[in-house]
Amino acid sequence: MINKKAYELGSRPSKIREIAERCALLKEKLGEDKVFDFSIGNPSVYPPKELNTEIKNAITNIDPVILHSYTSAQGLAETRKAIVDYLNKTYNVNESEDFIMLTHGASGALAATFEALASKKDEYLVFAPYFPEYRVFAEKTGVKLVEVLPNENFLPDFLDFKKKINKNTKAVIFNSPNNPTGVVYDEHTISEIAHILHKAEQKFKHPIYLISDEPYRELVYKDMDYPFLTKYYDNSIVIYSFSKVLSIPGERFGYVLLSNRMESKDEVFNAILGSARSEGYICSSTMLQKIIPNLLGKTADIKQYAINKKLFEGMFDELGYEYVKGDGAFYILLKSLEPDASHFCDVAQKYNIFVVPSDDFGVNGYVRVSYCVKEDTIKNSYEAFKSLNEYYEALK
Ligand code: PLP
Repeated sequence: MINKKAYELGSRPSKIREIAERCALLKEKLGEDKVFDFSIGNPSVYPPKELNTEIKNAITNIDPVILHSYTSAQGLAETRKAIVDYLNKTYNVNESEDFIMLTHGASGALAATFEALASKKDEYLVFAPYFPEYRVFAEKTGVKLVEVLPNENFLPDFLDFKKKINKNTKAVIFNSPNNPTGVVYDEHTISEIAHILHKAEQKFKHPIYLISDEPYRELVYKDMDYPFLTKYYDNSIVIYSFSKVLSIPGERFGYVLLSNRMESKDEVFNAILGSARSEGYICSSTMLQKIIPNLLGKTADIKQYAINKKLFEGMFDELGYEYVKGDGAFYILLKSLEPDASHFCDVAQKYNIFVVPSDDFGVNGYVRVSYCVKEDTIKNSYEAFKSLNEYYEALK
């Protein structure tokens, strides 16, 4: 007998991957330019030129035995210090290199953190809509993932949030800038979440951890100060990835950071290290660990995403589509033209448009449109979106 749950996960790819794979087949058949692939969140712009320079320098100047060696489980002290110094300076916080672990992307950090905090009967609250992999990480640890409804602006509905907190609530997870809405949580929203949780901690007399998953932290297209979580809540955990900011998702590099003011932080940190160890995900790429200190503050050409966002919004406004107004990440949540978003995605595919239904993200009736694509793909999709709209108009 094999592990049934693991088998299910492996043999049932995520809806997003399934659609992306169908799309890849059609591209082979018709050619790239005939297919409008807005299905997946793979960065579409070049990494910063400094990335190549740093890799070349590392290969040239660092003894290969060291460059390709193991590091300590949580990562090199000098890299952890560089990251924490950068965060302290940029966000005016006071974190410590002793409570950061370098991970295999945000996914590695999420999986380890979800497992580390979990004990029997625990519930984790998540603000919908949310990244579907949270469900996978939660299921594996046996905790119950409870969705909190969004309000009309796709921010947390605080009444529902308060209603769903109970004595079993161990953690709350949010993601801003958000996948799939692009909505960015402002300072007021974070303060309110922190305030509610602080009261709940006092009422239930145990810590409730607030986890911020922020791989899109720098992908914000309006002028605002990013509210760095540890400023607002003591029992906070920040999860980050270099996948999107540097356009290097294949390199698998990120971190998990605990607030310096967290209760029993040694215990929690060791539990995260232990979970990562038991999953076989300690000691992330040494080459990346060596070069990341020189890349902090650098970004891929994310200006292109702002251009793409504007192009889509202009097109959707003109064609009469409704969508959620976001300010970050590289996604637009578009209202489906029928109640069944999955069926709407199937119909869209007849026009060679590939988008993903919102159901897996915890809300119904929308589709996610990824705009991490070439500008021309958006421009060339105009007629397809027009025809799709006309098809539904004709049904009325
Ligand atoms: N969290 C969110 C919200 C994401 O959208 C993604 C990837 O798309 C991840 C985590 C995983 O990121 P990584 O590539 O660092 O594992």
